[in-house]
Amino acid sequence: MLSGGVGGARFARGLKAALGPDELTIIGNVGDDLEVLGLAVSPDLDSILYTLAGLSDDERGWGRAGETWNALAAAAEWGGEDWFRIGDLDLGLHLVRTRALREGASLSEVTARLVAEAGLRVELLPASDDPLRTHVVTPAGTFSFQEWFVARGHVDEVDAVVFDGAHSARPAPRVRDALAEADAILIAPSNPFVSIGPILAVPGLRESIEQRRVRCVGVSPLIGGRAVKGPADRMLSRMGGGTTPAHVAACYEGLVDKLVIDEADAPAEAPVELVVAQTLMTDGAAAQRLAEVVLENACV
Ligand code: GDP
Ligand code: CA
Repeated sequence: MLSGGVGGARFARGLKAALGPDELTIIGNVGDDLEVLGLAVSPDLDSILYTLAGLSDDERGWGRAGETWNALAAAAEWGGEDWFRIGDLDLGLHLVRTRALREGASLSEVTARLVAEAGLRVELLPASDDPLRTHVVTPAGTFSFQEWFVARGHVDEVDAVVFDGAHSARPAPRVRDALAEADAILIAPSNPFVSIGPILAVPGLRESIEQRRVRCVGVSPLIGGRAVKGPADRMLSRMGGGTTPAHVAACYEGLVDKLVIDEADAPAEAPVELVVAQTLMTDGAAAQRLAEVVLENACV
């Protein structure tokens, strides 16, 4: 499964429930990664980790449940940056990851350790261990992903997305093998431009999926043409020409055999077969039902 943060994490929770232990491999986006107060933060990998471990704050939609913000408030009092919100519980993870990276571990090694510490029987692979950073080109200028998303509240329309470092980024260990060995490849209901796009920008990964011998099924992140949360609908309108299932499918042309869309989206002509389902993952049971529909359509 290719995954961004929140939409991907919700879908991953459903897949984990629908599959047996060690059957799920997740390839996660690292284009949003950043350094905050000297700490290495990987927001999308962390959303997946927290959600699968049952630690996420489902109401807020990101970060950990029961979070407090003392460390960040204190950092701000001492003149530190506080535009990117890191809670006290979240901080613990970033300390451990940053220390391990400084000692020479790769991001995929650290991530595997964190998954094991959480007692999870899934494989969570960063798309790349090399720096790959998403930037958005807007009428107000070009911004790093988090500067645009968090600091500017993604108010600016996006004309283009660029992935700094992508040309020299190598797939992390296991990523190409995981794609080659998979019984099915799934694309989560994540933002096609800034969550799945950076994964596909790692040289070789798009080709790995194009050359698949198994099915690839995607899930649309739009319901009734609108994003459940975030800027995916606006980005599709401006960069993809519209928000119908056909426009979502066009983002994955040559990559998916089927696209699962919500009942609210009228089936339209699309370059791939459309499967209609309830795609709003209101809770774990809804996520599992969606995962089961996707697996039925993906496994032959
Ligand atoms: P991010 O990295 O945290 O932005 O997360 P993703 O890119 O993985 O997910 C963001 C996308 O998830 C948004 O476009 C949402 O519309 C979509 N999304 C969130 N929850 C749901 C849901 O329950 N169902 C569907 N179909 N999409 C969802
Ligand atoms: Ca993200």
